[in-house]
Amino acid sequence: MGRKRKRIVRTKPIPTLPIVFDCPLCGTGKSINIEVNRKIKTAVIRCGKCKVQVTRPIRPIEERVDVFGDWLDDLLAEENESE
Ligand SMILES: [Zn+2]
Repeated sequence: MGRKRKRIVRTKPIPTLPIVFDCPLCGTGKSINIEVNRKIKTAVIRCGKCKVQVTRPIRPIEERVDVFGDWLDDLLAEENESE
């Protein structure tokens, strides 16, 4: 009697999932794309709608969501300063 082997195929999650965020400047949902370049320790934030492009330095531990959060904090800080 032959034993049937169960073959489990594991699919690894793709590490470069496109994570998109809502743009805080033009208010368009899911229009922000963030490219992280760990080699040069920078991230480029781009909005597909209003074409804003921001390059920010990042720390090695930072993920895209952190980059986005920091950018939002900076935007809010700038707004407070100008008033
Ligand atoms: Zn925008």
